[in-house]
Amino acid sequence: SLIKPEDLKIANRYASLPETFYTKLPPTPLKQPRLLHANDEAAQLLGLTAQTLAQPEWVQVLAGSAPLPGGSSLAAVYSGHQFGVWAGQLGDGRAHLLGEIVGPHGNWEVQLKGSGLTPYSRMGDGKAVIRSSVREYLASEAMHGLGIPTTRALSLVVADDPVYRETVERAAVVARLAPSFIRFGTFEHWARQPEALRRLFDFTVDNYFPALRQEQNGPYSGPQALTQRFLHEVVERSARLVAGWQTVGFCHGVMNTDNMSILGLTLDYGPYGFMDAFRIDHICNHTDRQGRYAWHAQPSVMHWNLCRLAESLLPLGVDVEQAKTVLSHFEAAFLQEFQGRLQAKMGLGQWREGDSQLVDDWWRLLHTQQADFTLCFRRLAQVPASDTEFLALFADDAPAREWLLRYRERVGEQAWADPQRLAGMNAANPLYVLRNYLAEQAIRGAERDDPTEIDVLMRLLRTPCTEQTGAQAYAQAAPDWARELSVSCSS
Ligand code: AMP
Ligand code: MG
Ligand code: MG
Repeated sequence: SLIKPEDLKIANRYASLPETFYTKLPPTPLKQPRLLHANDEAAQLLGLTAQTLAQPEWVQVLAGSAPLPGGSSLAAVYSGHQFGVWAGQLGDGRAHLLGEIVGPHGNWEVQLKGSGLTPYSRMGDGKAVIRSSVREYLASEAMHGLGIPTTRALSLVVADDPVYRETVERAAVVARLAPSFIRFGTFEHWARQPEALRRLFDFTVDNYFPALRQEQNGPYSGPQALTQRFLHEVVERSARLVAGWQTVGFCHGVMNTDNMSILGLTLDYGPYGFMDAFRIDHICNHTDRQGRYAWHAQPSVMHWNLCRLAESLLPLGVDVEQAKTVLSHFEAAFLQEFQGRLQAKMGLGQWREGDSQLVDDWWRLLHTQQADFTLCFRRLAQVPASDTEFLALFADDAPAREWLLRYRERVGEQAWADPQRLAGMNAANPLYVLRNYLAEQAIRGAERDDPTEIDVLMRLLRTPCTEQTGAQAYAQAAPDWARELSVSCSS
């Protein structure tokens, strides 16, 4: 027999924090909710299956119509900097933490997004449209498939409630999973209230970074060592996270501090984009006119966000110089991850002198020609066996040929047979990415209550580097019609 919600062990440690940290309230039920898709891999994390989640008792929970028994549903308060400006109090304006499922793979918080008004909704309606929900649902699994830390997506429920955006759309709810949804902005919110800040800090360390209390050695000592170690850990995770994004051509779109996970997870998929044509200053969010969150700006924005986090920790007793020392580790952590991933992507056995120039020129070549980010890396593996397919990615292939000569010379120097390089590069370079136009096809299906395309994409994106027979259509550059697609904050 299938597991029912009441059969599970459910906790909610966040609800053990003082009541000022959240408002307890249930989600708002939707009209005619139905489960459009359940993610069997995410379900497994909870000891469940997609089939289990399709039972009416579960659909009710995933739609926000019934509580997770014993979960103490709540909306959390946080603050943040939005587009570089202090925005003051924000919070879960359309999200409800249902509780924590204690499963075979640890504790997972289950949060609904699009589940109704809360005291933090401000001018919003508490809802999410099908379009943005499909995008979040697919992107988080794509990110996981790329080996980049992220919140996970458990289910997608669609409903009949109208939602008013530029046009009338329909409501949807995504259930997402993470060990915690604490944000940089949660710390910023409490920065001026030392007692609450201390409470949040201890809660976060005890529950999510317990090893930090054990490490008595390491570079930090004195009464502020724990705070420094914590900041150091978040700096390193965040640096690795943004390095991962850069190497897959991902633009987050809204890197506000309230969207930055304290655990270093990709969080809050809104107007994000996986780049098609490469431009270093690509902006995926049309609302971001200044390009604050353009692709090439993401690492420095992450550093800026970490500075805001560090400031909010100062009242715990760390001084500015100590905080600066910790923050200075960002660059090295970023470069190590970025270079490591690039090395694998370009089939360079080890990083040698001159490689930085070769790689810089590679970026320049892709940018100048606005060549397809994903396919350029993927097809680079095939040279010299098949130069033609690689060169076909460039409008003007003369500079590409020139660069390729240098690359061949470079990889020719290493005692590394081409088949091995090919295998290594193919394991590091995705063939399938969640291009906007692919997501668009899944959205159009979802709007007709047809989950077929979501299912196909999710399966491909889970193992994005493995070529699947019959899936050539998903491994192509974007067609011309896709250039018209635009994404904004209205979700
Ligand atoms: P975002 O930058 O999209 O993550 O959202 C910033 C803030 O606005 C968060 O506190 C969200 O909860 C809130 N928000 C966004 N959309 C809505 C909505 N439709 N209804 C209520 N609150 C929203
Ligand atoms: Mg309260
Ligand atoms: Mg957000």
